[in-house]
Amino acid sequence: MTEISPDIATETSEADPNRPAPEAAEGVSLPGSGSGPTSDPERELWPAMLKGWRLKCPSCGSGPLMRGYLTVTPVCPVCREELHHQRADDGPAYLTILIVGHLMAPLLLVVFEIWRPEPLVLFTIFAVGCVGLSLYLLPRLKGAMIGFQWARFMHGFGRSG
Ligand SMILES: [Zn+2]
Repeated sequence: MTEISPDIATETSEADPNRPAPEAAEGVSLPGSGSGPTSDPERELWPAMLKGWRLKCPSCGSGPLMRGYLTVTPVCPVCREELHHQRADDGPAYLTILIVGHLMAPLLLVVFEIWRPEPLVLFTIFAVGCVGLSLYLLPRLKGAMIGFQWARFMHGFGRSG
């Protein structure tokens, strides 16, 4: 304790007369060097992803996120949040295949083992089920992924705020 306190005292006493500016510079650089720009407030991850899942703007939650089935609205018509920064790319398709595959493959085995339906019946049910579930999940997973990117200030989402 006796060793630490004189060091701090000497450092501060040396720093104070020479440069009062470094403390102010550190204070400015700390939020800037952290994650995300300083002007943007904290964005909560799960509400933003839930809004995206509901195909709503991750910022306000009321404007439509999609213009068509998968086309993202460039700017939210309600809150004017720029949504064209999104880079969902192949992520939603990857997640859709992952989820549908891991749901339907075991289900196919269970249905076959229990009921032993006709092959054509089994194929028809699971073809329709896989396509339907994929079409349901794909835009919602894309919305959730955009919400994730928005909440994490990714791909230019931070600069617009
Ligand atoms: Zn909005």
